Amino acid sequence: MATTEKSPRHIVVVGGGLSGTLVVVHLLRTAPAGTQISLIERNPPVGRGVAYGTECKEHLLNVPAARMSAFADQPDHFVHWLEGRVGRLGYPDQVSPSDFLPRQIYGDYIASVFAEARAQAPDTVRFSNIAGELTDIEERPEGNVRLLLADGRTLDADRVVLALGVLPGEYPIRRSLPFYHGRRYVHVPWRPEVLDGIGKDQDVLIVGAGLTANDIIVQLDQLGHRGTVHALSRRGLRPHPHRPGTPAHPAFLDANALPTTVRQLMHLLRAEIRHGGDWRAVVDSVRPFSHALWQGFSWDERARFMRHVRPFWEVHRHRIAPQVAATIDRLADAGRVKFYAGRLQSLKETPVAAEAVFRKHGTEDLVTLTVAKVINCTGPRTDYSKYQHPLYINLLARGLIDHDPLALGLHATPAGEVYRYRAGLSHWLFAIGAPLKGVLWESTAAPEIRVQARQLAARLLA
Ligand SMILES: Cc1cc2nc3c(=O)[nH]c(=O)nc-3n(C[C@H](O)[C@H](O)[C@H](O)COP(=O)(O)OP(=O)(O)OC[C@H]3O[C@@H](n4cnc5c(N)ncnc54)[C@H](O)[C@@H]3O)c2cc1C
Repeated sequence: MATTEKSPRHIVVVGGGLSGTLVVVHLLRTAPAGTQISLIERNPPVGRGVAYGTECKEHLLNVPAARMSAFADQPDHFVHWLEGRVGRLGYPDQVSPSDFLPRQIYGDYIASVFAEARAQAPDTVRFSNIAGELTDIEERPEGNVRLLLADGRTLDADRVVLALGVLPGEYPIRRSLPFYHGRRYVHVPWRPEVLDGIGKDQDVLIVGAGLTANDIIVQLDQLGHRGTVHALSRRGLRPHPHRPGTPAHPAFLDANALPTTVRQLMHLLRAEIRHGGDWRAVVDSVRPFSHALWQGFSWDERARFMRHVRPFWEVHRHRIAPQVAATIDRLADAGRVKFYAGRLQSLKETPVAAEAVFRKHGTEDLVTLTVAKVINCTGPRTDYSKYQHPLYINLLARGLIDHDPLALGLHATPAGEVYRYRAGLSHWLFAIGAPLKGVLWESTAAPEIRVQARQLAARLLA
């Protein structure tokens, strides 16, 4: 029997990071009797994903606890959950809403939210937690779809949510290099074995100087590393720290007359900061308007933003915890972390080390670094058509997905409804989180994801 729009009997969510887990939580709370929900995660346990799966206690949230509730309509939920655990092993002795807590604790929180939703779901709603990797989806003549997992298992579904997070980054030099296959190169910096093989006194090169680079630096320090960490990025920009106690800035943008060009936006921002606003608070005050602003920009304006503003926006908008900034400043002052602006020219292995040559920004000067390992922290790529994973290759080949005009994510509506390749909206495929960057811009942090998750769950059951 063909599945109709109104009877999603089996909803499959693929990806058990924050996004997928919260979609499932809302489905478990609201699905009508007879609904079956499955969650497929290739790297269990569910609820952690890349960000909150870390075991390093020095990896802190970059958002204060007060803003990390899983539920937008219960802003104190995370802080209350924490208050019930203060003093326990691995938890702080006291907690304040302005604290930047270990990301591992946040993973515990999401896992607990998930466990509670499962425990409270009615027996009439069935749930399956599936450990596996999705590699393909095919549409069936019956009107539903069949999901294929890497180990050969299949699953039939009426609706599918892609909650797959970000893609790994580009290669630091964008051509094939034997170096990338050697033991001295780490392409995906979130893997647990990222620091294996680095001696305490050996030097390391991190390509990138953003949030993930900071993670690596503080983790090395925590492990007692004494060598020099070189961090190379194109412009040498680094994320700014939060300043605790900064009062919120009143909204200065008018929701009914938002700027429609990047130039107008930057003009208003600069004027507001000149008129005495703390730049952090001014930047933060734009956030509630970010989706409307982005959608009010034409694709040409969005491209302009990406070309001229994005690198600066990222380091001002995505700030780091003050403790992390203090650690990095201490290491930089001691000469144990060195930041460079420049572009990598070559990477090769010698019999005893890795040798990296970069050109200093704005000069012809070449600098050679000899290090034990090169770790790629260039930030996630966004172009799905260039990522060689069977799932994306298959979905693109079947015309089930397309990238947005700037290849920032999937071509989708702000509500996460996915467009097929030149064939209108899919009635069964949805996305949440990072894949919606092209249409929403701000779509990767918990404050956005929790709202998307709730709305998407309602849309799936509509
Ligand atoms: C290092 C880091 C730190 C961050 N810190 C913060 C922070 O402090 N505050 C904040 O608000 N945001 C932070 N973020 C943003 C973060 O991306 C979001 O908060 C959130 O974790 C995103 O969750 P997600 O589920 O969309 O993606 P992910 O966490 O990446 O989860 C996607 C999941 O999908 C699974 N998956 C992928 N492909 C397949 C497949 N084919 N089959 C099956 N499973 C698959 C993956 O294994 C993964 O578990 C951070 C991000 C990173 C990377």
